[in-house]
Amino acid sequence: MNWDALLEPLSRLCVGTPRRAEPLRRYTTLRVGGPAALFYKTQDLEEFARISCWAHQNGVPLFIIGHGSNILVSDKGIPALVLYNACRRVSIGELTYAETGVPFQELFLETAQAGLSGLEFAVGIPGTLGGALVSNAGAYRSNIADLLVEIDLVSAGVRQRVPPEWMQFAYRDSRLRRPDAPPTSLLAVRLRLKPDCRRAILQRAREFQRQRILKQPSEASAGSFFKNVYDRTLAERLPNLPAPLREAGVVPAGYLIEACGLKGYAIGGACVSRKHANFLINRGWATARDFERLAQHIERVVYETFGVRLEREVLRVGDWEGIEEMP
Ligand SMILES: Cc1cc2nc3c(=O)[nH]c(=O)nc-3n(C[C@H](O)[C@H](O)[C@H](O)COP(=O)(O)OP(=O)(O)OC[C@H]3O[C@@H](n4cnc5c(N)ncnc54)[C@H](O)[C@@H]3O)c2cc1C
Repeated sequence: MNWDALLEPLSRLCVGTPRRAEPLRRYTTLRVGGPAALFYKTQDLEEFARISCWAHQNGVPLFIIGHGSNILVSDKGIPALVLYNACRRVSIGELTYAETGVPFQELFLETAQAGLSGLEFAVGIPGTLGGALVSNAGAYRSNIADLLVEIDLVSAGVRQRVPPEWMQFAYRDSRLRRPDAPPTSLLAVRLRLKPDCRRAILQRAREFQRQRILKQPSEASAGSFFKNVYDRTLAERLPNLPAPLREAGVVPAGYLIEACGLKGYAIGGACVSRKHANFLINRGWATARDFERLAQHIERVVYETFGVRLEREVLRVGDWEGIEEMP
């Protein structure tokens, strides 16, 4: 792809100036990642839609980045037009309209102030609404999918409004995480929220926040790196698993990693947090390759110990050619 040649037609669609070779580490919470072939920050929904249609229709690889809190970007970067979504307009009500670049926590605060309940679980989830939709973000037994009424998007070059079923949501999953997904930009959504007492909403959120502070490390991370394992047979054969988890048939990935003695294990600057074994943290000098090698090591050890293939919650993106894969 001749990226220099694309600058001119792209610039004609943009209010601001697209850039070449923008380093992405400053846009990810893991603080790693090489350059974007092309980079542009959009704050206007019509511009976001226009650029998405143009990229899809002209075969230009497009990657949407929100807060970068659920991605591991390769050290070689992303050979695509990386569109940084800062479209943040909202209109609050029982049927709340929100553009997908709004920070998830900010959306919670605005809705809570208006006495609307539903987004309490978003407290402490650092991403945008768009990223939350792609991975069906959730916590404390609630997910974003539960609140969704409809989505405005551009998919395969066509702007459309679709129902939630279009996303094929599952636990920390949607069709947009799959390799065969059509190129799609999520523009805006409508969410159904419930009126409730403001104090009660904020009280619930404060309790969630308190639990997070106790459990989560403060170093740079991408949150839980692996998905929890839903496997009743496995849950029943783990003697120390807390009873409620055994009854629900859920084994936290962190439990398996900790049981393998991997807390504190490090490769280069990437390290398994001592506070929470499912958080891989940056000790300050990590590369994306360090994180990838650490993740593969964990996958191997957990498989050899428990026969479980961990699934990643954090998405690996960009050019990973040359990295050895786990067999
Ligand atoms: C400390 C910490 C705690 C966390 N806790 C939780 C938690 O409790 N529960 C949970 O579910 N997650 C948690 N996360 C993970 C993460 O915050 C969420 O998955 C978040 O919703 C990701 O949003 P983002 O804007 O950062 O997405 P990004 O990382 O920027 O992107 C993630 C994916 O979504 C795509 N994407 C983003 N926006 C759009 C769009 N508008 N259109 C199309 N595609 C898009 C990207 O291309 C990428 O593939 C945590 C992360 C951290 C660092």
